[in-house]
This record gives sequence, structure tokens and C-alpha cells, in this order.
Amino acid sequence: MTNQPKAVALISGGLDSLLAARVVMEQGVHVEGINFYTGFCVEGHTHAIRKKDRQRPKRNNALWSAEQLGIKLHIVDIIDEYKDVVINPKHGYGSNLNPCLDCKIFMVNKAHEWMAENGFDFIITGEVVGQRPMSQRKDTMPVVARDSGAGDRLVRPLCARNLPATLPEREGWLDRDRLYGFNGRSRKPQMALAKQFGFEDYAQPAGGCCFLTDKQYSVKLADLWRTRGRREYDLDDIMLLKVGRHLRPGANFKLIVGREEGENRFLEGYRKRFINIIPTSHTGPLVLLDGEPGAADIELAARLTARFSQGRDAGCVTVAVNQPGGIAPTLLDVVPMPSEEIPMDWYV
Ligand code: SF4
Repeated sequence: MTNQPKAVALISGGLDSLLAARVVMEQGVHVEGINFYTGFCVEGHTHAIRKKDRQRPKRNNALWSAEQLGIKLHIVDIIDEYKDVVINPKHGYGSNLNPCLDCKIFMVNKAHEWMAENGFDFIITGEVVGQRPMSQRKDTMPVVARDSGAGDRLVRPLCARNLPATLPEREGWLDRDRLYGFNGRSRKPQMALAKQFGFEDYAQPAGGCCFLTDKQYSVKLADLWRTRGRREYDLDDIMLLKVGRHLRPGANFKLIVGREEGENRFLEGYRKRFINIIPTSHTGPLVLLDGEPGAADIELAARLTARFSQGRDAGCVTVAVNQPGGIAPTLLDVVPMPSEEIPMDWYV
């Protein structure tokens, strides 16, 4: 090869992928980043929605990483293709509904396709042997390389010295001695390297990169699949699982209750798709009804809405029930449901 080698780095927005790209850039390789948007990504959603989280930075961490590195970032929407990974993972799930090994294989495969289409030479990930129990083990590292089709064009600069030499090392595009041999769950080596490179203010080192690792989120997704009788979802479904308090009084419907002003405003965007309830006599949440509630279910939902309003201790609360078609709302006067009458198993 006469030209400068070119590598595409998977950039999640976390510290490891940032460091991995930088380590390779140090060796004179041209690096560009790729970030895959699955719909389950944590950043930019609940933090951006909730009023109480308003002080937290709302930056896109993948873009922030690219800016720190001074590289181009390609953000690729894989929402539809990714569904099969979540619904039918060949290697199963982790402790929640996180199909980490299949996810890694899928993303490296997509990066490999991109690499071939764009005339790049190899792929970089921030994986570290022993860092994660499911996808970053010594025995799963070769599985990701093999099943993604990337083979020995997949380089993990942070732990490369614990793994067989890759093509870029054998070809002399990368000096193996200037790669690293990190191993295990400790974050200290990464933090020390970040300091050495002058990276500060990076995303929480131990933070999960997607909602599928979250127990409560996974419970809600499993509930959605169970009650619909099929394992499928669309983007609205998975966005709404990130927001509000979810109560399921019956298999045919559930309530999504805004917990604060920011969430209520977010749910406003869904009023055209769902029956929705808002207290009119008292301040209270916007509530969406997902499913096919009957008249008695709507009455029950109205009482629950009243329970979560400022009128919870009042004898009567008026709520407006809006149909998604936009016809005039129905006003209902209801008695707020006492909290002790709400079965705990309604909370999803
Ligand atoms: S945490 Fe989410 S995005 Fe990260 S590897 Fe696992 S499934 Fe994929």
C-alpha cells in the first residue's frame, strides 16, 4: 500500500471508542467515525425531555467524540434492520433484553460493508477483553470478527496485544508495540490514557450505551410484546417506553402517564395517535392510552389520571378525554382512585 491507510472507527460516544480511534490516529492512519442509531440509544432522550435533568449536558456524545478527535462522523440510521437483532438474537440476551453479542456482530458487519464501499482498509472498535460479561470476553472476540465478516481487518487498539495480530499489524500499517493490552473490568487504564491524551469531560465511563441494558425498560418492552401477542415494535413504541409512568390495568390497554412538565410536553406529540386524558379542573398529567380500551377502561383510566393530578384528594376531578381523530373532547367527572386501590402489578 502506497497511500495513507484508512480506518473506520465505531464511535459510541463513550470513552473506549474515543481512545481507540485516537490510538490509531497517533500512528498516522486516516480515521473517520461511524455511529449507528438504533432507536434505543440513551443519550439525547430522557435527559433532554425531563425538566429536572435540564442542567445536564444534552450534547450528542458521538458528535462530541468526533469533535474531540477532529474527525468526520457518519451517523447511520439502522432502526429497521436492527429489529431482527433485538427480536431474534442468535446468541441470546444479556441480563436484560440486551442482545450485546449479536449487536456487536451486526454493527461490525455494517461497518465492514461501509469500509468496503468507501475504500477504507480496516475497522476500529473500543472493545476490551473481559470488559463486558456478554460481548467482550476472550472467547467472543473471535466470534465478532468471524461472524461480522470483518475477520482480521477488525482492530481493537485498547486490547490488541492480548489478541492475535491483525492484518494492519502484519502489513505494518500499525505498530503493535504502540497498541495496548488492557484487560478486565477496571476503568483505570482508560482513565489514565484519557488523561495522557488530554481528554476531559467524556461521557460517564461505566454508562450503558443503550436502553436495552436497563432492567425497567426491558420489563416494559417484554410487556409490550406479551400483550400484543407478537414480538415487534416501531420507533414510537420504543420512544414511549423511555418516558412516563406505565400502568397496565388490562391486557387490552395501558396508560402512559407524564411524570412532569417536560414529559407532558413530549407526550403532546403523540396525542394524534392515542386516546388521551387531561385533567381540566386541576393541574395534572397528560395520559396516553395505548391499546384498545373499552368505555369502562376509559372511565378507569380517567380515575387514575385524577389520582396523579393535584386533585388526588378532592372528591371530584373533571378530565377531558380526547379521541385521536380530534373530535370534541368528552368531559368526565370522576372520583380519584385511592392509591391503595391501585394494584402494584399494574405498574409496568
Ligand atoms: S449495550 Fe446495547 S448498543 Fe451496546 S452492545 Fe449491548 S445491545 Fe448493543
